[in-house]
Amino acid sequence: MHSELEQLLVLQDRQQKIRQIQAEIKTVPLERAYLESQLAATAADVESLKQKGRQVEVERKRLELDVGTRNESISRLRTQQYQTRKNDEFQAISHEIERYENEIRKLEDQELELMIEGDKLKAEIEAADKSARATKDSIARQLTDLETKSKALGSQQQEFETEREALASKIDADLLDQFERLFNSKGDAAIVAVERGVCTGCHMKVTTATASRVKAGKEIGNCGQCGRILYLGQ
Ligand SMILES: [Zn+2]
Repeated sequence: MHSELEQLLVLQDRQQKIRQIQAEIKTVPLERAYLESQLAATAADVESLKQKGRQVEVERKRLELDVGTRNESISRLRTQQYQTRKNDEFQAISHEIERYENEIRKLEDQELELMIEGDKLKAEIEAADKSARATKDSIARQLTDLETKSKALGSQQQEFETEREALASKIDADLLDQFERLFNSKGDAAIVAVERGVCTGCHMKVTTATASRVKAGKEIGNCGQCGRILYLGQ
């Protein structure tokens, strides 16, 4: 094979590796953002449960106070009742006490419901807290791994870049220029094999003239269809 073609193939291999590494590096911030959003979502879930728990407690205390004020009213009414000598007034106070007692029963029922709900929430919060701690640990590990991976990719890229530069400096400037333009525009490869008379870049048959030029290996041949630099494959 033409020695410049061999050099180009090695160069292409390094450039393809660099391209792959760059693509991987690009995903790192996305992966990090995803992990961080998971962390935030977990914390928000726990916080929302805790907020619910606080609301239930506030509501329960309010009911407790309502019961307290009614009990005070009942005590006050009982004192009045002992002091009165009028039967109708005594009866009216009895009715009022009864009304307060009914209200207290309703309030206490609501309070009981809230206590049950509060206990349920407490258990839910404990479970969510526990799972959030596990998630936090797991995400912290994943973020550390991601950081390690990112650094490794960076130094790998640096190694390939150095190698690439050394290789490129040995290649004819015009050929290198042609190679770079093809490499950037094609997205996959600038130099491809001709196999059984077909360009493996665009999968079209090359002309007989091109095929024999590639076979002779004396000069650089390009695919008439896609323009890629050709070398003789199997
Ligand atoms: Zn082609």
